[in-house]
Amino acid sequence: MNTTHAYAAADAKSPLAPFEFKRRDLRDHDVQMDVLFCGVCHSDLHTARNEWKNAVYPVVPGHEIVGRVTAIGPEVTKYKVGDLVGVGCLVDSCRTCASCAEGLEQYCENGFVGTYNGPDRITGENTYGGYSTNLVVDEEFVLRVPPNLDPAGVAPLLCAGITTYSPLRTWGAGPGKKVGIVGLGGLGHMGVKLAHAMGAHVVLFTTSASKVEDAKRLGADEVVISKNAGEMAAHANSFDLIVNTVAAQHDLNPFIGLLKRDGTLTLVGAPEHDHPSPQVFNLIFKRRRLAGSLIGGIAETQEMLDFCGEHGITADIEMIPMQKINDAYERMLKSDVKYRFVIDLDSLRK
Ligand code: NAP
Ligand code: ZN
Ligand code: ZN
Repeated sequence: MNTTHAYAAADAKSPLAPFEFKRRDLRDHDVQMDVLFCGVCHSDLHTARNEWKNAVYPVVPGHEIVGRVTAIGPEVTKYKVGDLVGVGCLVDSCRTCASCAEGLEQYCENGFVGTYNGPDRITGENTYGGYSTNLVVDEEFVLRVPPNLDPAGVAPLLCAGITTYSPLRTWGAGPGKKVGIVGLGGLGHMGVKLAHAMGAHVVLFTTSASKVEDAKRLGADEVVISKNAGEMAAHANSFDLIVNTVAAQHDLNPFIGLLKRDGTLTLVGAPEHDHPSPQVFNLIFKRRRLAGSLIGGIAETQEMLDFCGEHGITADIEMIPMQKINDAYERMLKSDVKYRFVIDLDSLRK
């Protein structure tokens, strides 16, 4: 295998910088691809800076990957050289536990293998993600990209898309349901598009007054500035489901108060510091539920991609060369991205 060019964090404090390594030789079921595009997820930043206290350095982030197949192992049946493919947050799991058997590899009881921050199940080596020129992944963890969609706009579907699609499906978003999305970032803007396409009445909650018009264009029926108590009160006791994508610690009580009886607030945002515990009475008086959700399994990720193909849905992106990644992280922290950075990996091949 040729040298792979990448960007890595060497430790929690250093900016990402060029890093070279070699991908493994192809195993029987491996697919090798040139990475074309890789989305920039807030989880990349959390991991590079060790905010979740689990980083193994060097960290090569990136789990919103679209690539072109360049070689296949001898037993591969699902893909051939030249195919346009996707890779999300998972590259392996035990494949035998109850969760894996149900297609819920993200909840693998023996621990899934992340696209980065591994470890690989066979060698124990750290996995390196999509901020790199090529990738080698078992075919069972490779996705088909709908041919009618712009490949750069597809990349963010592999994490931001599936992470919002899965809870929307799990909690029944659809016609007749009032669904809230909290935060208009990478995940949030996909949540708005997907919930709208599923036929729900969609309300977007934002802290940024400047995003109101965009939210409506993306598919929100209503937009609420969440800092405005009066606007929030107008929606009390009315939501079936609220999906909270916020990447920072905040008070959950104002959102729980918007749920109707038996409504659910599902957390997908994974901030460095936990939210303060919500008021107990706010939950028990209306049998409200506070839940969490982690990305999605491989089958559901393919279902989401196919759904996006049918509905013509991709992410709204700002393309950057790899060399701009540290600026992109600073802008993401200021909520200054509309609405996902995507790295053009040709910038590392020159
Ligand atoms: P992002 O693009 O940075 O978006 C986060 C949004 O949250 C911002 O655009 C902003 O929206 C809002 N926000 C940020 N700081 C806030 C604050 N202090 N108070 C209130 N709102 C704030 O991030 P992302 O890539 O969408 O990721 C969001 C979170 O989900 C991250 O923590 C990430 O690690 C996590 N995540 C979880 C999963 C999972 O499986 N559960 C998967 C992927 C990512 P407004 O400007 O509209 O307020
Ligand atoms: Zn992600
Ligand atoms: Zn398993």
